[in-house]
Amino acid sequence: MLQGAGYDQLDDLAKRVESKDYDSITALNVPAIEKLAQTVALSPEFHKTEAMRIKRAKQPGFQAAHSEDYRCRVTCGTCVRVCPNRSNELVTVDGQKLIIHIDEACNECGNCACNCIEPCQPYKDRLTFFLDKARLQASENDGFYKAGEEWGFRFKGQEAVLPLEKLPSPLQSIVSAFSKELPYYL
Ligand code: SF4
Ligand code: SF4
Repeated sequence: MLQGAGYDQLDDLAKRVESKDYDSITALNVPAIEKLAQTVALSPEFHKTEAMRIKRAKQPGFQAAHSEDYRCRVTCGTCVRVCPNRSNELVTVDGQKLIIHIDEACNECGNCACNCIEPCQPYKDRLTFFLDKARLQASENDGFYKAGEEWGFRFKGQEAVLPLEKLPSPLQSIVSAFSKELPYYL
């Protein structure tokens, strides 16, 4: 689940589970479960491969790398798929996909950073939606929060609370897209 294809695998898994006839199952098959657990523990599919270890070893600085740009060169969506807390969202701004990180849902596990295709820590480098001013001030991320009818933000060195129409460009389009596409966060 926490690797490249991430939660996109759930659909296939759910279909396979649904195809089973539950009513015919009346007791737990303990030996089969034990055998399955053993297979999982010993299977190379569930362990880091030697190729993966070598890849990580050859990128010693990658984990410490940061992106200065809040936009991805290619918005691959991997950080959305692999986050166990669904803390990264996609919005469309002027026809382009953009990642918005959700501060309140993130426990900083770092999985998105491990899987990001760019030298970037998505949970630190991407624009972040905060619950309130206190959360923004406790973070170093650029981002925004709703403050009544206005928006508080930190963006490219500027920090203020302003009505939507006075937000600096392109933050205005980003906040507008976020409000329309993900209203349940507000
Ligand atoms: S660091 Fe945060 S955003 Fe990244 S995968 Fe972990 S919980 Fe999700
Ligand atoms: S932050 Fe990284 S993982 Fe997320 S969409 Fe951008 S390039 Fe992909």
